[in-house]
Amino acid sequence: MARIPEETIERIRNTADIYDVVAQYVDLIKKGRNYFGLCPFHSEKTPSFSVAPDKQIYHCFGCGAGGNVFSFIVEHEKVTFVEAVQQLGEKYGIQVQYESGSASTEFFSSLYQAHHVAAELYHNTLYFDRGKAALQYLHDRGLNDDVLKMYQIGFAPDSWDTLSNKVKPLDMKNDVYDKSGLFVKTKHGWRDRFRSRIMFPIYHPSGKVIAFGGRIFNSDDPAKYLNSPETPLYRKSEVFYGLHKTRDAIRKFGTAVLVEGYTDFLQLVQVGVANVVALSGTALADQHAAQIRKFASKVYLAYDGDDAGINATLRAGYVLLQAGVEPLVIAVPPNQDPDDWVRNEGIGPFQEAMGAGIRLLLFHLEKKDAQNLSGADRSQLVQDILGEIARISDGIIRDDLLKSLAQELRVDEVEIIRLFKQQSRRKGGSTPSSKQTAMNKPMFTSAVQKAQLEIIRTLAFHFDEVFPVVKSALDFELFDEPILKKLGGLLIKEKTGVELSAVIDEFDDRQERELVSEILFDEVSPDDPVLIIQECLATIKGKLIKDQIKAARLKMRELESLGHDTEAIILEVAELQKQLQELTMPLDRK
Ligand SMILES: [Zn+2]
Repeated sequence: MARIPEETIERIRNTADIYDVVAQYVDLIKKGRNYFGLCPFHSEKTPSFSVAPDKQIYHCFGCGAGGNVFSFIVEHEKVTFVEAVQQLGEKYGIQVQYESGSASTEFFSSLYQAHHVAAELYHNTLYFDRGKAALQYLHDRGLNDDVLKMYQIGFAPDSWDTLSNKVKPLDMKNDVYDKSGLFVKTKHGWRDRFRSRIMFPIYHPSGKVIAFGGRIFNSDDPAKYLNSPETPLYRKSEVFYGLHKTRDAIRKFGTAVLVEGYTDFLQLVQVGVANVVALSGTALADQHAAQIRKFASKVYLAYDGDDAGINATLRAGYVLLQAGVEPLVIAVPPNQDPDDWVRNEGIGPFQEAMGAGIRLLLFHLEKKDAQNLSGADRSQLVQDILGEIARISDGIIRDDLLKSLAQELRVDEVEIIRLFKQQSRRKGGSTPSSKQTAMNKPMFTSAVQKAQLEIIRTLAFHFDEVFPVVKSALDFELFDEPILKKLGGLLIKEKTGVELSAVIDEFDDRQERELVSEILFDEVSPDDPVLIIQECLATIKGKLIKDQIKAARLKMRELESLGHDTEAIILEVAELQKQLQELTMPLDRK
């Protein structure tokens, strides 16, 4: 990452105003000290997105999005942190200069440039002699020039050096050749990776080309597609093909149509389906689902009609459900893909099938022929489905599915719930709470975690009052929740307290940033913050002592079994128990 001096970042953070920045995109209405509006990151009808000007942070009570001015721009504009700093710097008239000796800006801009040059070269080639056959093939598949141009479809000719010659004048460094995924190293130097393929540029949401999918078209090569490998610019499991153009439509409708292939995507766009996205050579990942959830609450799955497509639909469907997105299946005719189907029969049947979108559970039961299964096969199918349901954290969705499953199979609901609980227990999995929680979010459920959280929040909002007691009596290293440990360390660092909005920038991971914003958003105002801290400290220390007692008792049993003297350890336990009592007694105000 390019380095911008900390000073500049701080100046911009202090100058930019969160209300001002968010209000460019969201209509905000004042309620109490905060502002509310419709969340730009998920689709909703009543405002749950809130901005706290006094803390300079935002938080959505619906989807959990949250952060400061920088993360708002990062998430909303789909840019890097450095670009967000730059953008706000421009808006507020603060010049951003990079620290010298940072080669990485150069590295990244070379990578982007290489992709930009490649996309242009391939696209131009498609419209020259060497691309004739490829263009004919695309036209034969019913794709018109408008859509080919809009998505910059191209052709990489059957040659080892078309692209390598083109980029020679750019004087790129070796690591750019190496990390771009566009070249392969041979004993003759760097050579083109993509040859004799129709090229589909894959874009970053900001509109820059970051990778390619290459498809052969006139031979029976088993490797029909060759995609860019993972590179510093391109992570397969995070990128949707085409989203840079269709994002606004998806956000507007609150729904998306998900297809597997580039040509499915182009065909649908061409016939006017504006809210479509495709995957780029990979299965739908959790990260994909988390991303699409920001724009759409419902996703129509239009995968191939063959067995592989059906299984991929089921996998993707459950990933979406588990992320809190409703999947509906579009029944593509057997052995066709959406591309063929729409080309052969027009958009009508597709739209009809969309209107009759099939719920995932029904699709699953139908495709696995549940009604005609018996005995072990039927039981196995039920177990498989229950396993998927167990991974859904939203209790309402989960209960709905269990009810439907019972109805469809004509089994007593009580029996299904019994099986479900049995399976959850066997897997050692706890059933998640019904409160909707973002994926992988730590849940702070134990008494000790709650106490740790309480200390953090009291420290954040009553810094002056509780600083002395926290500083003298608490070591944040004792915290077992990594995010709270780090947060505590940051908050206690300075005698005067730190800007809460600055703390957020210390977390690189988006989910962590959102969680930190959520923790810092709601102020707690207890009557006696110091007492709160003391109570929480007692809980945390009590747990430590209890653990010590447990360990000592185990040791004692071991010594006993070996016939050794246990007096010392008995005294130790007694001492620990005394400490435990002293810890809880003065606070016991029953
Ligand atoms: Zn939201």
